[in-house]
Amino acid sequence: MRLYNTLSRQEEEFAPLDGRTVRMYTCGLTVYARGHVGNFRTFVALDVLRRVLKYHAGYQVRQVMNFTDVDDRTIAESQKAGVPLREYTDRFIAAFKEDAAALGLEPVEENPRATDEDNLRAMTELIGALERNGHTYASEGSTYFKIATLPGYGKLARLDHAGMKSGARVDSDKYEKEDARDFVLWKATRPGEPTWDFGVGPGRPGWHIECSAMARRLLGDTIDIHAGGVDLIFPHHENEIAQSEGATGKTFSRFWVHVEHLMMDDGEKMSKSIGNVFTVHDVLQQGFRASALRFLLLSVHYRKQLRYSVVGLEQAEEALKRLSDFLSRLDLVRGVAAHPAVQARVADARAEFGRMLDADVNVPGAVGVMFDLVRALNSAIDAGEVGQPDVPSIREAFDSFDRILGVMALRRAEDERPPVPVKEIEHLISERQAARRRRDFAAADRIRLDLDARGIVLEDTAGGTRWKRK
Ligand code: AMP
Ligand code: ZN
Repeated sequence: MRLYNTLSRQEEEFAPLDGRTVRMYTCGLTVYARGHVGNFRTFVALDVLRRVLKYHAGYQVRQVMNFTDVDDRTIAESQKAGVPLREYTDRFIAAFKEDAAALGLEPVEENPRATDEDNLRAMTELIGALERNGHTYASEGSTYFKIATLPGYGKLARLDHAGMKSGARVDSDKYEKEDARDFVLWKATRPGEPTWDFGVGPGRPGWHIECSAMARRLLGDTIDIHAGGVDLIFPHHENEIAQSEGATGKTFSRFWVHVEHLMMDDGEKMSKSIGNVFTVHDVLQQGFRASALRFLLLSVHYRKQLRYSVVGLEQAEEALKRLSDFLSRLDLVRGVAAHPAVQARVADARAEFGRMLDADVNVPGAVGVMFDLVRALNSAIDAGEVGQPDVPSIREAFDSFDRILGVMALRRAEDERPPVPVKEIEHLISERQAARRRRDFAAADRIRLDLDARGIVLEDTAGGTRWKRK
């Protein structure tokens, strides 16, 4: 398969170094707030890439996705909330797991946290190797990476060396390309901040060293794919390359994959700092299904910006309904004859779907192939040209499409779950009973109608009130 590599700015033929197992590192969420839908655009796109590598290309995948649970932002927000850092970030890790499950993200092999002791030790070791190789210096208790010591610095972001300020330093985790400077590896302790000392002096890690160290500890010196959103190209990924290659002298990652941003209607990127964010949880509260949100997020090629809109979400829901109506229709096919033309059409679509995935994970192209097949088969069913013997291979084809897209499986799981949590239904039933006891029938009725609107019907029987899905 071909995959675009940010490092070469070209599509290249991809295969893992050892021919079997893809070792992939994904920069995960900075857990200072609940992840927003923009973050999940990247995570859904990379989940699809993972599925393509596994189920289409047939590789094993060993994927690491970290939680950044110590950096400038997590420290600032936990201080604001007056909650210890670890306890503060725990909440957003739990929320991430809930949202990831709702969107049908496959669990990855490892979810390391930067503040786990093994990882802090790995960071210290990496800084030690950089010191030995002459890439660091200390100033006021902090340790910096000296970018002038690495001739290749800037190769990912294609930095102009003439503009770099040698010797100037930057302490913050995020800064602009124009400000390429010596960056901090380990920051000296500041009052009120968490601090560790494993050998580089008391302090805490800079953001960039975290990913380099966790990737190396869990995947080795050279990995196959490193991925994240496009905003990470500089400085984060540039600095990761500098740290890892400066320490080991080996190529850090063979491929760099970057997902374009989710934008808002007004053309602005969805971002916590702009303040135009909402979460997966918010979208579900508005009555949309997670399967529709997943479908919307994967429907645009990962290297193109995606505009978020409610209309887009409604269209995604419509498309998935069309797909599930078609699949239900297959149950009603009655003809007994097999139709070789149908078999051939399905085989063509499967091959074409695969070719789309081979071309830099062209998911919109693949989705187009799938819906063309739905249209063709609907017409064939109308014309009585599909028989029961054709159905298993049709189902198999759609199952194979969904192993990559992961939307129909998600929808089936949603259908099996009540649209309102059982606890909440039970609570509302007892509130309704209480309202009736005090003869407030208007309130009791409001509860019944409200549940009805959310897809739950109440039935009053001699044995009490029962509920069922509409
Ligand atoms: P952060 O929590 O800021 O470290 O971001 C987690 C991941 O989400 C990174 O891979 C970012 O590049 C990605 N990301 C942040 N904002 C957006 C957005 N609006 N669209 C797509 N990806 C994003
Ligand atoms: Zn990272």
